Amino acid sequence: MSRGRFCSAINCLDGRVQLPVIRYLQRRFRADHVDMITEPGPVRILADPRERSRRAAIQARLEISVHRHGSVGIALVAHADCAGNPVRDAEQRRQLAAGVAELRRRHGRLPVIGLWVDARGRVVDVTQERIGRSARRAVHSRAAST
Ligand SMILES: [Zn+2]
Repeated sequence: MSRGRFCSAINCLDGRVQLPVIRYLQRRFRADHVDMITEPGPVRILADPRERSRRAAIQARLEISVHRHGSVGIALVAHADCAGNPVRDAEQRRQLAAGVAELRRRHGRLPVIGLWVDARGRVVDVTQERIGRSARRAVHSRAAST
């Protein structure tokens, strides 16, 4: 099999979000292949202290993608109407941000992004959103101080 360029996704098992996430990440990381690590509501599993063994299983699969496939980037995914994580969107987004922070601690040399897939299947990088806002603030405050 050809090798090509890989990235990694920790995604929900929900069939509705597979293709949107693959298409988004192929573009975002210029990847040929997206290694898909699926769980029902992975952001809940990463956030829940009782889910230690499932967290370890996610981590073990991620290690293969990173070390054996030379993954160029990691995405953690949450989505609207998630059967595996039936909490409010705001709570899912909070779990997503916490999960991304933890993945960044473990895989600091790789870009780690947090993706939200909305009810219409649109993929939004919520970490980028946050970086964008603070970067704009920094620009404004620099402009104000000069
Ligand atoms: Zn789901």
